[in-house]
Amino acid sequence: MSTPIRHDWTHAEVKALFELPFNDLLFKAQTVHREFFDPNQVQVSTLLSIKTGACPEDCKYCPQSNRYDTGLEQEKLMEVEKVLAEARAAKATGASRFCMGAAWRSPKKKDMPYVTAMVKGVKEMGLETCMTLGMLSEEQAEELAEAGLDYYNHNLDTSPEFYGEIITTRTYQHRLDTLSNVRKAGLKVCSGGIVGMGESVRDRAGLLIQLANLPEHPESVPINMLVRVEGTPLAEEADLDPFDFIRTIAVARILMPASHVRLSAGREEMNEQMHALAYFAGANSIFYGEKLLTTPNPEANKDLKLFDRLGIKPEERDEQYCEDEQEAALQAKVEQARNDQFFYDATA
Ligand code: SF4
Repeated sequence: MSTPIRHDWTHAEVKALFELPFNDLLFKAQTVHREFFDPNQVQVSTLLSIKTGACPEDCKYCPQSNRYDTGLEQEKLMEVEKVLAEARAAKATGASRFCMGAAWRSPKKKDMPYVTAMVKGVKEMGLETCMTLGMLSEEQAEELAEAGLDYYNHNLDTSPEFYGEIITTRTYQHRLDTLSNVRKAGLKVCSGGIVGMGESVRDRAGLLIQLANLPEHPESVPINMLVRVEGTPLAEEADLDPFDFIRTIAVARILMPASHVRLSAGREEMNEQMHALAYFAGANSIFYGEKLLTTPNPEANKDLKLFDRLGIKPEERDEQYCEDEQEAALQAKVEQARNDQFFYDATA
């Protein structure tokens, strides 16, 4: 039986997944993963902060908010040429996607010519492009799509119920509206959340249900582990049980079988064994580079060494023929799964 792509997950079903014995959950996640992906390939993206700090929003985990004194050095929007030089370097280290992030509530009109020039330049190098610039209007999303942007990142962060504990300057609905504008413009969606902010398992389930029950699953689902930055309100948050993080990855894989599930912030605090378990649970994308926006990220070669020990290969981007073939095969599986009339009992 092939796994159907579903958009009608209930709390009871997802709760039951979180409550499975660890080995049963991982087995289920790995089985789904193998149906849709080569289990020994991991997609590699590089992230560059193109505008750092001084953000007016109040996200309690974020060192870039201007409400918290974190000692972060603020940087204005980078020059286009500097961004392109970073993209060239990222390509040379094997990245297939280049993500650019700006700490804005939303981009201003005067910023758009610069960010669209960045997208065009990076795209010309043969890299996939991704941006995260805050909330987007329909027009802005269209402008970015016309420039050739592939992905837009906008995270839901947590469940709708817990959201107000973390952010008060924009609503959950604002976030959903941006995701909808991004979809309407024909861009691919990158959206996930953060684990370890003091949320309950129900909230983790709630976040994944929101993502999985969108009309289309995000193509990329970053699952971040909170990085406790001194000066932010979440600096003293309690340790997260690493197995709870792995469980969240596994449930994301089961709920969104054809999406890339990405290990993002917090990797610095994860050892090699935890990385390996995350890959087994269905994570198949990482960010690498020296920094993940403003928090430390394991050095790129450390990742490549671990890939080598685990027999994992970075997903290729340049071999367009292979990629097109893979894409076609994946699409066929998604279509098949969509049409599958079998009842999928997630808790079986
Ligand atoms: S997470 Fe983004 S929107 Fe929130 S404070 Fe940080 S940079 Fe601003």
